[in-house]
Amino acid sequence: MNLVGFLPNELEDLAVELGASRYRGRQLATWIYRKGVFDLDTMSDLPKDVRARLAERVTIHVPEPERVTASQDGSRKLVFRLGDGSRISSVLMPDDDRLTLCVSTQVGCGFECRFCLTGVMGLERNLTAAEILGQVLAANRLCDGGQRVTHIVFMGMGEPLANYAALVQTLRILTDAKLGLGYSPRRITVSTVGLVPGIEKLGRENLKVNLAISLHAASDEVRSQLMPVNRSWSVETLVAAVRKYPLAPRQRVFFEYVMLDGINDSPEDARRLVRLLRGVRAKVNLIPFNDWDGSPFRRPPLARILAFQSILLDAEITTTVRWSKGEDIGAACGQLREPIPA
Ligand code: SF4
Repeated sequence: MNLVGFLPNELEDLAVELGASRYRGRQLATWIYRKGVFDLDTMSDLPKDVRARLAERVTIHVPEPERVTASQDGSRKLVFRLGDGSRISSVLMPDDDRLTLCVSTQVGCGFECRFCLTGVMGLERNLTAAEILGQVLAANRLCDGGQRVTHIVFMGMGEPLANYAALVQTLRILTDAKLGLGYSPRRITVSTVGLVPGIEKLGRENLKVNLAISLHAASDEVRSQLMPVNRSWSVETLVAAVRKYPLAPRQRVFFEYVMLDGINDSPEDARRLVRLLRGVRAKVNLIPFNDWDGSPFRRPPLARILAFQSILLDAEITTTVRWSKGEDIGAACGQLREPIPA
């Protein structure tokens, strides 16, 4: 039984089960989540007998990266080998005073977006809350000099809302200000291909995290070609669900739009996107496609990307062009893929 991934109140319950007070559970949560200490022997304010009883029943396991690859742009790709031999990756991306971690939620992915290398792997399995949270704890351990990850994006391998229970458990621990990791929900972004029931459910959790939609096309015709998930929920249905997602004042929904030469990058595509997002508190991130071997797509010329952006800006939609980090180390958006274990 790995205590990483337990909610603080579950740690309190465990302490009671072991004949100790709930306070001991709170101490455990503080050591693991707030102090990043994973060795029971170091938890000096826990009585020895409580530690001994814990040691008989539990472990506190945070995955060690098997490999850390540094990119020329400063980002680092962490590859973890999990207990069953599966491999997943996270990407650490520094940017001024920010240090963003992109985490995975599944081994592989079953959604088969045609521009995404992870989609080629197919879905192997969901990650547990321990394995998702473990990526954050491991990344924080890797940081030097008291620095820690400042922002977390659920945009790595897998579809977060397809692993809903583990996602929400992880978010609750990350955002618990007293006994969890204490991240502001505004520094956490959950990205989805657009699982409408999942978006509605997440909105009801009152977690207040940012929502990002992998949109990539504004018409059903193009989007269904690129993303089979669009056959389940049309673009209109998706945007209608997004309109209902609760937002704090000044909070916006992010729309990710990978730019593919000759597919979704025309001025007419941009105008369609403007019409679709009318009245939505949106921020659009245009992501020039990151090439990979065997991909049928290409990145559009820069002028075409900028022309697309200016149509959105003219319509007063905040739009940035996001050059992916870690392209040289296979860590850029849509490039995460690790060998499937033998
Ligand atoms: S873009 Fe996301 S949802 Fe689509 S295949 Fe890749 S990892 Fe899966």
